[in-house]
Order: sequence, then structure tokens, then C-alpha cells
Amino acid sequence: MHIVLAGAGHTHIELLRRGAELIRAGHELTLISPEPYHAYSGMGPGLLSGQYSEAEVLLHAAALARDVGVKYISDKIVSADVSARVLTLASGSTCEYDLLSLNLGSEPVGEQPVDVAGRSIFTAKPIHKLAALRIEIERCCRDLDGCEISVVGAGPAGLEIAANARNLLSKFRPRHSAVNLFSAHSAPAGLTGRRREYVERHLARIGVSFFGGMKVGVAEVPGNIVVLATGLRPPQVLRSFDLALAPDGSVRVDRFLRAESSSRVFAVGDCAYFVDQPLDRVGVYAVRQQTVLMANLLESARHVDTALADAARLTPFSATGPYLAGFNLGYGCGLLYKGRWTLRGRLAFLLKDRIDRGFMRRYQK
Ligand SMILES: Cc1cc2nc3c(=O)[nH]c(=O)nc-3n(C[C@H](O)[C@H](O)[C@H](O)COP(=O)(O)OP(=O)(O)OC[C@H]3O[C@@H](n4cnc5c(N)ncnc54)[C@H](O)[C@@H]3O)c2cc1C
Repeated sequence: MHIVLAGAGHTHIELLRRGAELIRAGHELTLISPEPYHAYSGMGPGLLSGQYSEAEVLLHAAALARDVGVKYISDKIVSADVSARVLTLASGSTCEYDLLSLNLGSEPVGEQPVDVAGRSIFTAKPIHKLAALRIEIERCCRDLDGCEISVVGAGPAGLEIAANARNLLSKFRPRHSAVNLFSAHSAPAGLTGRRREYVERHLARIGVSFFGGMKVGVAEVPGNIVVLATGLRPPQVLRSFDLALAPDGSVRVDRFLRAESSSRVFAVGDCAYFVDQPLDRVGVYAVRQQTVLMANLLESARHVDTALADAARLTPFSATGPYLAGFNLGYGCGLLYKGRWTLRGRLAFLLKDRIDRGFMRRYQK
């Protein structure tokens, strides 16, 4: 069976690590991704502040694939004919599959980053571009001796980016510097109660100005650097895939992570819409789906020639219970919570750092 893994996301890297099992079972595996690496989002904000190097945050998915005998194609999928089981790639070539797994992540919604004279515009994703944002902030501090950054959108990503940009600026001490965080909502990251109080106090202490209840666009905010963090949506390319989609454009999947409209297609992470229980767009779920996807791909591949695996043999994914949410708030501080449990400050960052590094160690040699 030819199994194609589309995208080097948080779920697929585990399939690459365990790729030998699939190959030993007699299957051929191909990874298609435009970049040869996987960018681990949990450590992205630390990449911006300089806490982590690129080598610590970017996992070489192509090398992982090669080591276990998985073929790697450096390309972008631009369309799919699900009934003919063929993918078309940006290079013009095609790729046939018996089973397809989609782990294509998400892309920024809202305004697209169009360069405006004298200003640099960035988006919260892709994560690896946070390294380019760091370089741009460093350049401003060096060449202009001043840097004002406006982050538009104060969801979890915008909050972490603003705090870590402030952390980076403080290392250079330019003559003029400011970090502004704008939100259409009244509280950063939708936090409430003590969690909200802690984050607002922390932002004020480190010098991030929070402007809540303000729906603004690039043209209305000050600064020589603007970061758009107004939310994420499934990749638009999915709309040409001829699969049943949710209204936001994500692939509707059943409890086995199988596309509702094709039993040969699986979808996981941000690009999937888990019909039983819609999930937040967080990497935590993409990671939790790893073992279920592996089991169900193996089972489906075993039975693809007959009638494909029936539901009785497949493993259901269960998203019950709260997940651990973590924020890197710069300056070695963090916020972690799960259900009613909360941890703030240095200890929260240290624990988050330990979890994130532990995750990466599984895949890095
Ligand atoms: C700044 C920031 C911080 C975050 N921090 C956290 C956190 O601490 N914890 C948490 O749980 N979540 C966090 N998130 C959310 C997290 O980024 C996403 O939920 C997570 O990345 C989703 O993972 P995924 O596996 O679905 O896709 P991704 O890991 O984004 O991978 C998608 C892959 O698909 C590839 N791809 C895309 N389009 C194509 C195509 N057309 N053809 C081929 N390949 C393609 C990409 O190149 C990439 O390899 C954060 C997000 C941001 C922006």
C-alpha cells in the first residue's frame, strides 16, 4: 500500500519516527511538505525572544523520514482528486496514493501581510518565520536605534509574541522602544479571573501596552513592525480537495479521524474538524492524535484491498477532559493551566520548558 503523509505537522512526525513499523508491514510511505522541517509551535515564542535556537525548535522531518526509509518530496499540494486518488503538486507533478493522511495545519486569517513603505509586516504563522521577525527586530534596534512593534490580535499567539518581542527588545536597549498589543476583546487570550489579572499585571510590568476592545487594521496601528495574529484557519487549498468540509474549511472527520466522505483519507490537527466534538486549534490535540492515527492507518492499510477496515477494528479518538494550556510570557515567566489548576511565574515557564524540550528530544538525535 502506498501511504502518503501530507504535511510535516505535529501528528505526522510521530508516524515518521515509527515509519519502520509501517514499512515492515509491507507499505510504502511518502512525506510531502514544502519545508524539510517541522516547526514545534510550543517553542516558537521562545525562538522569537532568543531563548531557543532554530536547531532547538525546528525538527528535521526530512532526515527523520530518510532514516527510516520514508520517501520525502519537497513540494506543496495544490489540489487532490479524491475519487482518482491523485494529488497535484505545485511543481506540476502528481502523486498517487492508496491511503492519504492530511496534517496540513492552519494559516493566518484576516489581512495578508502586504509590505507598506517603511514598515515590516509579519504573521503569527508559520512558526519558523518568528526567526525572521527576531532578525528584523534586531536590525531595527541596530540601524534605527528605535523599534516600535504593534501586535494585532491578543489570542494566545498574539499574547506570547508581544511578551517575547518585549523580552527581545530589552536585550538591545534601543533609545526608543514600545510594544503594543491590540485586541477586539477586553482580555488577552480570553483569560478570566486570576489568570487574567496575572497576565495583565505581567504585561504592564514588562512594558507591553494592552489596548482591549479595539478592532484595528494594519493601517491604524503605530510602529515600524506589525505582527498580525488575528486567528488561524484551515489551509484554503482544502477547498479544492473534493472532500466534505466544515463551514470553516476544515475536513470533517469521524471519531476514527477518517474523512467523512472518503474512507481512504484521514485528517488530523488544525486542518481537521472532529465531528463528534469540535476541538480548539492547539498542537496538544494534534499530538494526542498520534497513536490513534498510527493504529488506524495500519489497520486500514491491512484491509484496503478488501473492504477497508470496518469500524469495529479501528481505534476511536477521545478528546475528553481539559488539556494543558501553556503560555511563554517572556523573561522566564509563564502561565500553565488545566481545568481549575493554575501555575504562574517562573515555575510555570520551567515546567513548560521541560515538557517542550522532552517532546523535542523524542525526535531529535
Ligand atoms: C505563536 C504560536 C504559539 C503557539 N503555541 C502553542 C502551544 O504552546 N501549545 C499548543 O498546543 N498550541 C500552540 N499553538 C497552536 C499550534 O501552532 C497549532 O495548533 C499547531 O501548529 C497545529 O499543528 P498541526 O500538526 O495541525 O500542523 P502544523 O504543525 O502547523 O504543520 C502543518 C504542516 O503542513 C505543511 N503544509 C501546509 N500546507 C501544505 C500543502 N499545501 N502541501 C504540503 N504541506 C503543507 C506545513 O509546511 C507543515 O509542515 C501556537 C500557535 C502559534 C501561532
